[in-house]
Parts: sequence; structure tokens; C-alpha cells
Amino acid sequence: MRLSQFHLATVKEVPADAEIASHRLMLRTGMIRKLAAGLYTWSPLGLRVLRKVEKVVREEMDRAGAVEMLMPTIQPKELWEESARWAKFGPQLLKIKDRKEQEFCYAPTAEEVVTDFARNELKSYKQLPVNFYQIQTKFRDEIRPRFGVMRAREFLMKDAYSFHLTQESLQETYDAMYQAYSRIFTRLGLKFRAVQADTGAIGGNASHEFQVLADSGEDALIFSDGSDYAANIEKAEALAPAAARPAAAASLQRVDTPTQKTIEDVAAFLKVSPQQCVKTILVQGSKGLVALCVRGDHEVNEVKAGKLAELPGASVLATEAEILAVTGARPGFIGPVGLPAEIPVIVDRDAAVLADFVCGGNQDGTHYTGANWERDARVTRAEDIRKVVAGDVSPDGKGTLQIARGIEVGHVFQLGNKYAEALDATVLDEQGKKQVMLMGCYGIGVSRIVAAAIEQRHDEAGVIWPEPMAPWRIAVCVINPKNVPEVTQAAEALYQQLNERGIETVLDDRGLRPGAMFADMELIGIPHRVVVSERGIAAGTLEYRARHEAESRAISTDELFALLG
Ligand code: ATP
Ligand code: MG
Repeated sequence: MRLSQFHLATVKEVPADAEIASHRLMLRTGMIRKLAAGLYTWSPLGLRVLRKVEKVVREEMDRAGAVEMLMPTIQPKELWEESARWAKFGPQLLKIKDRKEQEFCYAPTAEEVVTDFARNELKSYKQLPVNFYQIQTKFRDEIRPRFGVMRAREFLMKDAYSFHLTQESLQETYDAMYQAYSRIFTRLGLKFRAVQADTGAIGGNASHEFQVLADSGEDALIFSDGSDYAANIEKAEALAPAAARPAAAASLQRVDTPTQKTIEDVAAFLKVSPQQCVKTILVQGSKGLVALCVRGDHEVNEVKAGKLAELPGASVLATEAEILAVTGARPGFIGPVGLPAEIPVIVDRDAAVLADFVCGGNQDGTHYTGANWERDARVTRAEDIRKVVAGDVSPDGKGTLQIARGIEVGHVFQLGNKYAEALDATVLDEQGKKQVMLMGCYGIGVSRIVAAAIEQRHDEAGVIWPEPMAPWRIAVCVINPKNVPEVTQAAEALYQQLNERGIETVLDDRGLRPGAMFADMELIGIPHRVVVSERGIAAGTLEYRARHEAESRAISTDELFALLG
């Protein structure tokens, strides 16, 4: 590509709401331009990178035996009613009407449409297993679109859906997709980790997220330093406490804590450690309030709590008025001792092995010391309801847990029969009997990967693309202020030779000053750069610099070709 014929439009200033490096750099390089909240135009430069990612994803999906197709982005309401998601999906679903007042949505995902396709196309077990995929635009009306294309409203996703007769077959394809994803992110040159993920309402244990490691990532990842255990914090567990609860030694005493409401203040005031305190949170359950108790140094994990029988779905904190009505005290002074009998008390496993602990007094300005489970406070059930913390023992007993941050770029999930059952997608088995198919689904955020890669690979000067994602592998910069014909010819000849070798090359023939030209090529992250100048021609060399190296050096054309392979 000759830059004089391309549209490169780098910018110096970016809006203040571009908080993270990738968002700033995608705007500065001109890869994307904002159209409206969460909606971006991909410029010719940005599109080159997006297509590179798409290519690697497509090659690895094909290699893993998946078959590509393309489904519409506009989907009829009736299908979404069959899965009951028209009502359940929530405000992320963009609903639209046509001129006949018929309702549709813009695809946030495609389980319904692909299952409809499958129920019409697949009749026999002989057609299974099959794994359909597409690379198609999605729309989700995200509550807070941000970080540019990282969390956009319209974005490009690779979504695959596999169909099976048996769980073994589903597991096989799931494993193949896991391998394919590992290959994709390895080929793209990214540091990533596959972590166990929460399976939400569907249950089961088969879901992994692929996370690109970056400090700016929205997800907290937990991994063991002594084994391969890794999980999203929503799902992560620690080893259950080994020791049994010690016998009660102290007597229950109400003490004044006039202004001490937080665990830290109470613990400091009473000269105990937060580990010796119990924190109580009241949440709205399906049949009234529920008390959740964790150790003072721990936090409730809302995803785990949301799975309790008493709390279907998300847990919503009780209001101050509700708390006052049932306990007689304000938040900050709530505890498990003396709670009304109708309130279930769910105690975290680690809080359940405390004896002689401190907890709220259910009376403003007081706490209890010397409290003990069973003797003083009911335990409806002990369960794992807390967030793990760094330093916890890994659930497999090997190593301690560490925390890192990540950007979710892929997700593999065993759906089981959820959609096939709802949409009655069946095939005939070997006995000629109708069987509901099992499904897996496998997503990759193609456009998000572009931002995630920049987040991981950039410096002061700009992006440092891994070669497979770079818009071009090499930039040939021409310095020719006096328009010397030999310089133009030498640059053209080199450009031709590189093209003939199949090396994607950008020729910077815009006639800019060297400083401006180099700054642009560094900003847009071209992995290799050579300079063609009058001085170099006289010396018979090219000035070469790798994007990740600090210094440039003189090399011959042959050396350059050898270097580029
Ligand atoms: P998140 O937790 O980030 O909202 P999700 O769980 O909603 O993601 P999936 O439904 O699993 O995402 O979608 C598959 C992939 O699509 C994700 O792994 C992610 O890479 C990408 N993705 C999801 N939402 C967005 C978005 N708003 N912008 C860009 N990419 C997205
Ligand atoms: Mg989401």
C-alpha cells in the first residue's frame, strides 16, 4: 500500500473520556471514529487489523472442523418467545418494529436463530455432531458503553454453536473449541489465561472464559501458584476450612460501640482482629429477608449468593427501613444473634468455624462479644458464599491463590438441552427415537481482541502490534526532500521486491518530514521499519529499526529479506 493513496489520519488530541490506553491509541491512530455512544466506524487502518484477527479466528475454527455460515442480525420476536428470552433478556435487547408493526430484535447473540436452523436442517443422528459458526455484527444496549470497542454497543463477534446426540460428543467438541481458542490467542501473540467461569442459571461445570491479561481488565481472575487451577473471581473457591469449630469459651456480652459501624472500626475499638468478627448482610430473598454472614475480613460473593435456594438470581440489599423493621437496628449494628425465626441465616464456611466472635448487637450503638453459633445464633446452613482473597489455599489444596486482572475475549459454554428443548430441536437416534439435541456455544469478541491486544502491547510512542495483527509488517519510509530520482527509484524497487515476496508493506511516500513520518509509523505500531535516503543509497544500506527496539541499525537489502523470512 502506498500511503499517499491510503487514508491515514492520526490525531494528537483525544477526548478526556478515553480513559484507557487502547481507547486513546485507537482514536489517536485513527483506527476508529466514534459515531455515537458505543458505535464506532472502523477506518481503513482499523479494518486492516480487524480483518487480521478475523482471519486467524476463521482459520482455527475451520481447522477444528467448525463450518461457517451467516445468520441475519435482525431476528423475529416469535423465536425469542419460544425460548422465553424476549421478556428475560432485559434492556440489553434492542427491540425494533417494522412497517407492519411486527416486532424484531437486533441480534445480541444467535442461540434462537441457530437452533431454529438446526431443527429444520438436522433430522438424523447421522448428521451429528456439527458445529456452525459465523462472524457477524452483534448489538447489545450496554448500560455503560465504554473503553471504545472494548465494551461497545455494536461489535463483531465470532459465535459458534454445536449440536450433539450425547454428552460425550458435546464434551469432545467443547475440548476441541478450547484447544482452538488456545491456538487463536497464542497465534495472535497475546498473553492469556483460560479460567473456569460461572455457568449462571444453566448450571453444570463446563464453562471457561479466555482472558487477555491486562491491569485495566474489568474481570478479576484467580489462579493458584501451585497448580493449574484458574477461575473468574465470580466462580473461584478456596479450600474449605479444615479445622472444626472450637468449643465456646466466652460468654455472650453486649458492649457499647457508639459510633463504630464498620468491621475495621469495631475491631480496632474492641482490640480484636477482623478475622474474629462476623459481618452480617440482609438481602431480599424470594420469601422475605435472608441474612448472609461472612468473616469480618471477607466479602459476600454475589454470584455464589445468587445461587442459594432462598435467593434466586441477583441478591438485592435490604433497605434501611426494612432492616430497622425486622431487627430494630440500623445497618452497621446487625448481627445473627436474636434474628427473627423466619429469617434464614446462611453462614459462610469460614465464618461458621469461628467461636467467641464479635457481631452486631441488633440494637443501635452496640455489638456482642463472645458470641457462638448454635448457642447464641441460629445457623440455617453453612455454605461457601464469600469471595476468595489472595493468599487463600487453592481448592485442590495445591498452592495459594493469586489475583490478576483480565479482559474477557472468549467464552466456551456447554448449554446442554436448554435451547433445543425450548425450541423442540430433535433428531432421530439409532433406534429411530426422537431425541432433543445437546448444544455447546463458543463466542469470541473479535473487535474486543483488537483493543485487548493494544492494552497489552503499547508504549509511550504508540501501539506495538504482534506481527499477525499488524496492519502491515513493514514500513518503507522515503526521505527525499530534493526529489532525487535515485531515491524514488530505490524506494519503489524495494517496495516491489517486498510485495513480490508476499510481505505486506506500506510505502510512506507522503513526503513528510522524517520525524513526523517515524512518529506515525511508531504510533500505528508497524513491527519493522526501513528508511530509504540519499545517504543510505550512497552507503549501500538501509536504516532498519524494529518497533520494540530502541536503536536503529544499518543493514543490507538481503539482510532485510532474511530478517523478514
Ligand atoms: P461481558 O462479561 O464482557 O459483558 P459477556 O459474558 O456478555 O461479556 P458473551 O455473551 O459470552 O459475553 O459474548 C462473547 C464474547 O463477546 C465475549 O467473550 C466478549 O469478548 C465479546 N463481547 C461481549 N460483549 C461485548 C461488548 N459490549 N463489546 C465488545 N465485545 C463484547
Ligand atoms: Mg455482557
